[in-house]
Amino acid sequence: MTSLGSAPIERVVSYGDSMSLAGLRQDLELFEGPFVPGIGQTWRLRDPARNRFFEIGPFEFEVLSDWQYSQTLGDLAARVSGRLKTPVELDDLINIFQFLSVNELLSARSETVRRALVKKALTPEIRWFHWILKNYLSVRIPLFNPGRLLEWLASKTNWIFTWKAGIFALILLIIDISLIIEHQSEIHRQIDYSFSLEGLMLLGLASVLSKTVHEIGHATVAYRMGVRVPAMGVSVIVMYPMLYTDTSDSWRLKSKQKRMAVVAAGMISEFLLALLAIFAWCVFPDGPFRSALFFLGFVSFFVAFGLNALPFMRFDGYFLLSDALDLPNLHERAAAVALRWIRSRLWGLESNDPEPQMSRKMRDFLVCFAIITWLYRFIVYLVIALLVFHFFFKVLGVFLMTVELSWFVVRPIYQEFLYLKSFRKSVRPQWRNLFLLFISFLFVGWFWLASTSVSAPGIARARIELSINAPTAGYLLNLQAREGQRLENGDELALLISPESALRSDLAQITRQALHFQLQSTAANEEARESREAITQRIAGTQAAERVSLSEQELMRLRAPAAGVVRDVLPSAVAGRWVRAGEQLLKITSPADTVVYAYVGESNIHEVRVGASVTFYPDDVGVEPIRGKVVEVDGNAIRSIPSPLLASVYNGPIPSVRGAGGELTPTEGRYRVVIEPDEPTMIPRVLRGSVYIDGNVLSAITALPARIISALMRELGI
Ligand SMILES: [Zn+2]
Repeated sequence: MTSLGSAPIERVVSYGDSMSLAGLRQDLELFEGPFVPGIGQTWRLRDPARNRFFEIGPFEFEVLSDWQYSQTLGDLAARVSGRLKTPVELDDLINIFQFLSVNELLSARSETVRRALVKKALTPEIRWFHWILKNYLSVRIPLFNPGRLLEWLASKTNWIFTWKAGIFALILLIIDISLIIEHQSEIHRQIDYSFSLEGLMLLGLASVLSKTVHEIGHATVAYRMGVRVPAMGVSVIVMYPMLYTDTSDSWRLKSKQKRMAVVAAGMISEFLLALLAIFAWCVFPDGPFRSALFFLGFVSFFVAFGLNALPFMRFDGYFLLSDALDLPNLHERAAAVALRWIRSRLWGLESNDPEPQMSRKMRDFLVCFAIITWLYRFIVYLVIALLVFHFFFKVLGVFLMTVELSWFVVRPIYQEFLYLKSFRKSVRPQWRNLFLLFISFLFVGWFWLASTSVSAPGIARARIELSINAPTAGYLLNLQAREGQRLENGDELALLISPESALRSDLAQITRQALHFQLQSTAANEEARESREAITQRIAGTQAAERVSLSEQELMRLRAPAAGVVRDVLPSAVAGRWVRAGEQLLKITSPADTVVYAYVGESNIHEVRVGASVTFYPDDVGVEPIRGKVVEVDGNAIRSIPSPLLASVYNGPIPSVRGAGGELTPTEGRYRVVIEPDEPTMIPRVLRGSVYIDGNVLSAITALPARIISALMRELGI
């Protein structure tokens, strides 16, 4: 019997053969299990109240068969040894008794169990607290019997269980992967969008739909295997309603393959849904429906593989693994093996072996598995608390974090301390292992602090920007410069004509033509000879005036003052347009000299030091990241956001409002950090992106307490 022996040794009390036996609970169910070579026929004992399973061997089965008819331990020993024709050790029976009582499988007749129950009943507030802790993540409400629905579904879905459907899914997977690679930049945009209210609502909707398909997958396959599915209903997970199906009866299936098929069906359905949704997302035109498809596809995919497939929580992956290894109650058993291993390695304590028949390899696996499970759960619950803190209720977030830290860290350490205290005489500290553990904690802590980088939104732009403005008001005759054009020093940019000089030139021309006409009309008149000379002189004068105007126009021929690239050409600058004096026509930038500006939030700015390494990741995934160093950290928060690209008003990352004068004001303190790229970098245009600045370990440590307190005070609004 593999589940025996897990009774902690402090529970050992002295039992005599006259000890009266408690009856087994009436509601326990017994199923035939697989035949295991070397052990014989095994059985499964199910506790329907907690839906837990216990695997028992042939000897335990014999003992339990006689249990109901025996009044005392001695009586039971006599019956079993009489039937098996071999003497039975009292110790073996005591082991079974302990197993039954520890797992609360006995009815309350037993004095020990009764006392334990009375003790529990006396502390209702603690029970209530434990219940909340255990259940705040999930409460189940059965709603209806899905028999008819499943009958219909099973008749309509036969085609899914064919090899053709499998090949279809494989082809779809390959198409999806290539489509995802093609639409990379859009994925970025969609993820940004998911932080909007509309995005969050679609996200919620998508996860409900994906979970529904998952559950229907379980139920349909269970139904096909002939398992009774008594209820479907709603489970509320962290105040979030989801469909659930009760397929616990699939444990009655004797075939391991069939049981595993029922468990895997949920994930497989979710995965197929993800494949279809991602394909549709790539094909459909832009719009809210397309965003919904995106969330459906990616949520289904990540829930199926990031959450359900991992065996660390009691989700489908866990049941699959536990069935594949033939180890029911895998978590509890792994924890027992790991705890024994830890106690022996750290404190030299040798306790009862919970799994005497288990191979060495399997033990090592279970120890690793249990430790990873503990870490994984700790991180998951901590992340949930942090998410609640950031997105919902600050006070609840702080409360959850405190509860989780005490539940997953303080409580186990305290219990272990009590355990060691009760066995203090046999404790022989293993100094070498304790030292190694201490060093690895230090290392993890150091690594964590060293890798904490500050992230902030930022922009990369060319450093030198020359603004080319109209020198006077005038008409734009020609604008040769084109967006992105490369220029040499002195290249012509635009031709402007001022209205006064145009007028003067026109006047001189008209006057000249009038004088020519006058000259011709007086040609035959001898008396007008003197006046003809005067007219000729005036014509020469108008010609001079015209020349002066032309050279004035020459002044309005705009030339590039330096080599560079043309940027931000005035969009409405068409020939014949009137421009104001000083109006900016275009910019000339020097693209090989890029500078990055990060706008770091108030809570992180203390961690940023001049000289820290920085990586800038442009939002446009087609552009290479830029690596560099911090060269300047501003002491004062910025008053307005320098580029509309960054402002939330224009879908940028910095929360902002538009001021009365049209300026974009950040709603929280932001500090400018100037970053110099490690090598000269050429960028195609102004780039928006995320900046990751390596935190300074020492300053991160020293600033930690102050940061926690100030963050708490700010978030709680104190
Ligand atoms: Zn499932």
